[in-house]
Amino acid sequence: MNVRVRFAPSPTGLLHIGGARTALFNWLYARHTGGTFVLRIEDTDTARNTQEATDVILSGLRWLGLDWDEGPGKEGPFGPYFQSQRGEIYRRRVQELKDKGLAYDCDGAVKFKMDRQPIVIPDMIVGQVTRELTDREEADPDFVIIRSDGQPVFHFVNVVDDLEMNITHVIRGEDHLSNTAKHIALFRAFGAEPPRYAHIPLILNPDGAKMSKRDRGASLQNYIDDGYVPEAVVNYLCLLGWSPKGNREKMPLQDVIPLFDLPQILRHNARFDLAKLEWLNGEYLREMSAERFRELGATALQRAGCKLDAYPAAYVTAALATCLGKIKRFNDLAAYAGFYFNDDVKMDPAAAEKEFTPEAKARLKKLRDALASLEDFTAAGVERTLKAVAAELGIKAGPLVHPTRLACTGAAAGPSLYHLMEILGKGTVLKRLDAQLWPVF
Ligand code: GLU
Repeated sequence: MNVRVRFAPSPTGLLHIGGARTALFNWLYARHTGGTFVLRIEDTDTARNTQEATDVILSGLRWLGLDWDEGPGKEGPFGPYFQSQRGEIYRRRVQELKDKGLAYDCDGAVKFKMDRQPIVIPDMIVGQVTRELTDREEADPDFVIIRSDGQPVFHFVNVVDDLEMNITHVIRGEDHLSNTAKHIALFRAFGAEPPRYAHIPLILNPDGAKMSKRDRGASLQNYIDDGYVPEAVVNYLCLLGWSPKGNREKMPLQDVIPLFDLPQILRHNARFDLAKLEWLNGEYLREMSAERFRELGATALQRAGCKLDAYPAAYVTAALATCLGKIKRFNDLAAYAGFYFNDDVKMDPAAAEKEFTPEAKARLKKLRDALASLEDFTAAGVERTLKAVAAELGIKAGPLVHPTRLACTGAAAGPSLYHLMEILGKGTVLKRLDAQLWPVF
């Protein structure tokens, strides 16, 4: 079978972590089977849909590295599909049901004649679920498919598109299980075999409560903003409801593809475990290649307002190389390494008061003068010079190192001092030392 799956989010303004996981499981299943992953934006609710809300979804999926495979060509060769552009198809399909006597006008709306038989849902994860007619509260099981204002209803467009797009497997959150009897009835009304269903258990908060939109952890954007590594987040999402044999946890997405399969999705609800995500994040950061670190680090610094474009690429690369393995999340980077990209060093006032004593300044002046005449302004050259000045002063390197670091970076801790001085370069280092030695009056 040529597997065709889809992620069909409604643009609500955020990409919920549960939605991101649904997208991921669909993507994994498509990649595992060599099938097709379709992205369909369910934007028929024109009052709620905005371009920004769609962009949140697209950029979130891109950040996670989940690429989609096809589309109508209007937004580039790979879609996505937008339901708002498919009105003609829905009109044709309503007419089809009317012609079959399976839909009828009612108070300006169009209603679907719902099946009066119990409907069995053979779910690949939840197992077999039977919906009796008596399950429904309302006496009349018929339901509206086109509202009186002409807007098609979710159940209808969802099924029409799954049908038109030849979707073979519907993988979605368990919150949609209650809609599925309606959907199966609609497929049958069109004379079509319903797709196979796989409803994924929900994601709960650590305390077992349902994760709601208001929970900070619920929106993918928060992980982007907090500077998590996308590889870690996507790895963590894989483990929310699926687990490989042997309980392996750290697994790059490429390793998950051959192992992922629907029957292995766990039937119980998954609990969100921030500590595990942080652990994975640390693992990915530690093992990250210098190139990937540079790419993600540069993005994080730019988002924090650092103007990287004003610096040569080699400077940016060298600066970021001194941060590799030193931070826990990318949003720590601006505080750690922002001094490379800002001539106004943001000075930690408490540290300044402690370090820049008159005595320390006198020593710093000696170092400044020695550095000014240093030709080999490399990490090794700077280190040699600093140690020689310390020896001359009859002190250890430490009392000279701390105020030097503070003058150069504004902080008491940071990248390796001699390396960062080499990268800043002689001119900048002297300027920053001078700024402490001769404050402007
Ligand atoms: N637009 C629906 C949602 O966002 C899609 C449900 C489905 O995947 O069928 O929940």
